[in-house]
Amino acid sequence: MNNYNISLGLLLLMVALNGHATLSVVTTTQDLAALTEMVGGERVKVQSLTQGTRDPHYAAAKPSMIRKVFRADLLLVIGADMEIGWLQPLLQSARNARVQPGNPGYLDLSNVVPLLGKISGPVSRAMGDVHAKGNPHYWLDPRNGIRMAQAIATRLGQLDPAHKEEYQQRLNAFAKAMDSKLQTWLTELAYLEGKPFIAYHKSFIYLADVFGFHIVDEVEPKPGIAPSAASLNSLVMHIQNDDIGILIMEPYYERRSARYLSEQTGIRVAVLPQSVGAQPDINTYFDLFDAIVAALNDAGEK
Ligand SMILES: [Zn+2]
Repeated sequence: MNNYNISLGLLLLMVALNGHATLSVVTTTQDLAALTEMVGGERVKVQSLTQGTRDPHYAAAKPSMIRKVFRADLLLVIGADMEIGWLQPLLQSARNARVQPGNPGYLDLSNVVPLLGKISGPVSRAMGDVHAKGNPHYWLDPRNGIRMAQAIATRLGQLDPAHKEEYQQRLNAFAKAMDSKLQTWLTELAYLEGKPFIAYHKSFIYLADVFGFHIVDEVEPKPGIAPSAASLNSLVMHIQNDDIGILIMEPYYERRSARYLSEQTGIRVAVLPQSVGAQPDINTYFDLFDAIVAALNDAGEK
């Protein structure tokens, strides 16, 4: 074979491989994108609308995002009001019937996990930025990651029945790997069980649920409301009275309050990556929990 034939062969191979990327999937967060890549492999092209470095409660509908939604075969959302501020206008502008709620190209993952923190009774603005349908930060429990991956694999198989088996196989491999990873993480963090924690925002209740620590207070006096001098000082009292050792927070919140609390009480601050993409070295859903467990261990003083 001469050089020309070799490069022609390579080219044909590349065309064939590219032909496999049949489904265009758009996700609202990088966590959803990472899970989809895990079960979709080369059959899917996945793009996230937001970056894991940013606060997922807020986003602005940019033209580039509208174009992505316009071309999507499948749109995956966190739901439970997480994207309430920005997804609706984006869906309207994109005018893509395939991915409108109710159609097969729209999948709300909050429907496939047990949501914690549902609020019974009336919700008012005075309660802060609360999520009435339940807390939407559910991807921070590896067990929910498996449930989400299952729903994604099933939906990919419905939209692309020719490769249904492949999605299921990838899902099974992911779930098996996740189960064994989770056992390792649980063993490593067993010493934190029952310990009282403070969180900056009400976003780690799923993490607390899986690893068994207790979040007894928040830096935000109400969800989405910044702390005041008075609320910080009452927190100082709470930390001292209950001997609370660890404060956990996302990287995108201001650090001044945590520094103040740490100076006043000696509480250790663990800045936890909350999403895939929150740090440059977090590219997969496994990386996310490896990084969270490492950050907890750094602050945890075994
Ligand atoms: Zn929230």
